[in-house]
Amino acid sequence: MAERRKTPRASRPEAPLPKEGLPTVVIAGRPNVGKSTLFNRLVGRRQALVADQPGVTRDRKEGEAMLRGRLVRLIDTAGLEEAAPDTLYGRMRASSESAVQQADLVLFCIDARAGITPADAHFASWLRRQNRKVILVANKAEGRSGAAAAMEAFSLGLGDPLALSAEHGDGIADLMGEIAESLPPMAEAEAAEAVEPVKGSARARARAAREAKGQPKTSVQPEPEVEVNFADILEGSTQADADDPMFAEFAEQAAFVEDETAVAGVLKIAFVGRPNAGKSTLLNRVLGEERMITGPEPGLTRDSIAVMVRDEHGEVQIVDTAGLRRKARIDERLEKMSTSATIEALKMAEVVVLVIDATLGLHEQDLQIARLIEREGRGCVLALNKWDAVEDRVATRKAIYDRLEISLTQMRGIEVVSFSATTGAGVNKLLPAVRRTAEIWNTRVSTGELNRWFDSALERHAPPLVSGRRLKLRYITQVKSRPPTFLIFGTRAEQLPDDYRRYLVNGLRESFGLDGVPIRLQLRGTK
Ligand code: GDP
Ligand code: GDP
Repeated sequence: MAERRKTPRASRPEAPLPKEGLPTVVIAGRPNVGKSTLFNRLVGRRQALVADQPGVTRDRKEGEAMLRGRLVRLIDTAGLEEAAPDTLYGRMRASSESAVQQADLVLFCIDARAGITPADAHFASWLRRQNRKVILVANKAEGRSGAAAAMEAFSLGLGDPLALSAEHGDGIADLMGEIAESLPPMAEAEAAEAVEPVKGSARARARAAREAKGQPKTSVQPEPEVEVNFADILEGSTQADADDPMFAEFAEQAAFVEDETAVAGVLKIAFVGRPNAGKSTLLNRVLGEERMITGPEPGLTRDSIAVMVRDEHGEVQIVDTAGLRRKARIDERLEKMSTSATIEALKMAEVVVLVIDATLGLHEQDLQIARLIEREGRGCVLALNKWDAVEDRVATRKAIYDRLEISLTQMRGIEVVSFSATTGAGVNKLLPAVRRTAEIWNTRVSTGELNRWFDSALERHAPPLVSGRRLKLRYITQVKSRPPTFLIFGTRAEQLPDDYRRYLVNGLRESFGLDGVPIRLQLRGTK
């Protein structure tokens, strides 16, 4: 073998194969995910053949593996990691960079049991920019729970994760098949040449030639949507990173995370509603009951004010669209309200209190505001004000619930609180309801739990036929909270009809208690 490798391929200078004649497969990933174990598993006893190859760095493990009739050069970057100095990211990058750049195929490994770490996300983002073919390997995925945990790796944006256990051998055959499929197709003559030195080469040749005719695997590359500690990642970054557009995306997300931590513990809410619903009366009442810390101060827009109060659970910032009321006074007769002012208030809030005048019932305009809240992705609490003036409370409440049930299915399970802002009766129920909703808005459901639910949901109602073919939905993962956002992968998943989407959204809401908040469902087709 060693001799062969040094022979220049003079007869074929335009040959697309790597210098040394064999397709190169590089195993990459952060330390301890099981790269060496996988390497040994793939190379098997053939490793002995190259153990004391001259010119091979002491730290670099390199071997040859016969995978479904194709002989490949396999490089394990594990040793290099230990050798390089500096930060974890620096080490990872320095160690794997050169190896990856020579690769025809990269096996990017993560530890399914540990879940996705910032280091994984960082490395994945770098890897996506290298324009190499990648197979995402979720290692340590032995057993049922392991396989479910592996699905979280979808969020890395490197296509479907292949769950396996390097140590136990589960899934290795699948991986070998995928590697063979992903390698650049060989011309028949080249295939023969590449496998020639191998014993029993006639069979191997035939198989290699067969596989060479197969289409190369096209991998899906969804955008990264994993919620990781981006600030951490930024710490380990370099100037070269900063010039990269992908990095800008990370930085933006980091800023978002920082912004969140800056106000950690402060719950931001807004009071919205039609003119005369009683928003300012309510604000004064809340200010009277809770301890005011600051305010009223100018809000983020010209027409809003913000006050900070403290309840027994912590600080709450209340944004109130003063301008909304001022304009309303002028146009009182017309019951005009400014949609843009409402939207401004929504943008500043995590949970929105939609105040209505309960003596008037739930009007179309109230529902319009509710839909804006849904569209902006906020949690919502419905406040039935002027409860003191309502004559038939039972009937009023029922009418409102019925209307909600029919007209506001996008936020089913919304909290409804009734009170009187003028007398103060019942107002103390408002902030606890807001806090419950905020908690739901921040919910995270584990990928394992989600996929167990998903399996049974698909079993109860199979996805529909679309143009005569059944859609095959495969996995689900939560890519974001605030509001809860889920991503489903499957064959032609993006063609899922609306009623089936609603079935899934309702199921998610019911099974994971996601009441009164918008739920986002994203669908991504895979091949
Ligand atoms: P590397 O640093 O990425 O090369 O990781 P190693 O191959 O040295 O493995 C790190 C640790 O993970 C070792 O203790 C392995 O025994 C363990 N490991 C590797 N593969 C698996 C697996 O499939 N399942 C489990 N449970 N552990 C594994
Ligand atoms: P805004 O335009 O939403 O800010 O509404 P205001 O707070 O200015 O209230 C409009 C009118 O409703 C005022 O006359 C208030 O006194 C009255 N109002 C507010 N809350 C209540 C309540 O709980 N019960 C009753 N009966 N009237 C109320």
